Amino acid sequence: MQKTIELNGQKVVYTLRVHKRARGIRLSVASGGVFTVSASPSTLTSAIEKFIRQKSDWVLDKIRYFSQFPLRRAQGKPIGGKRHFAEHKDRALALTRERLAHFNQHYGFKWNSVTIRNQRSRWGSCSRKGNLSFNYKIALLPPHLADYIIVHELCHLGELNHSRAFWSLVARTLPAHRSFRASLRKIGVSFL
Ligand SMILES: [Zn+2]
Repeated sequence: MQKTIELNGQKVVYTLRVHKRARGIRLSVASGGVFTVSASPSTLTSAIEKFIRQKSDWVLDKIRYFSQFPLRRAQGKPIGGKRHFAEHKDRALALTRERLAHFNQHYGFKWNSVTIRNQRSRWGSCSRKGNLSFNYKIALLPPHLADYIIVHELCHLGELNHSRAFWSLVARTLPAHRSFRASLRKIGVSFL
């Protein structure tokens, strides 16, 4: 079951696995910054959330660290394949729309359309006509990296270049954008 929690002002996605024999609550972070929580069926959501919050620095640190490594290949559904794209594109669109609206409260830009694509070499793009497009793999990234891609394309509505003015627009909402860019470069668009 996929859930989200806000830690130190950052929205974090995790998978909750309920095991009958689980003892207590366990947190783990794997390649790609994939965050999993396991708990027994009797554990209350509030207890799980409280536990994660108590460990928020640890969780965010691990996600940041593990984001540099490629995600594990989805079993039977190769990343970039038709089935994998079909499975994740709706979630990618919902996530992108939600985060665009969130960051645009600050910028107040206007765009024309938002499309999700299955691309090999790009995370996103912004056209002169204000059409934004994003790679569906954005839905597989740790939230802070997905946010970076969304803010990057959003800011191209203000500056359609990579000038100093563009980067200062990005920095208004994501002051740590440089480190996010470095993590993304390490992951690579094709992941593999
Ligand atoms: Zn750009």
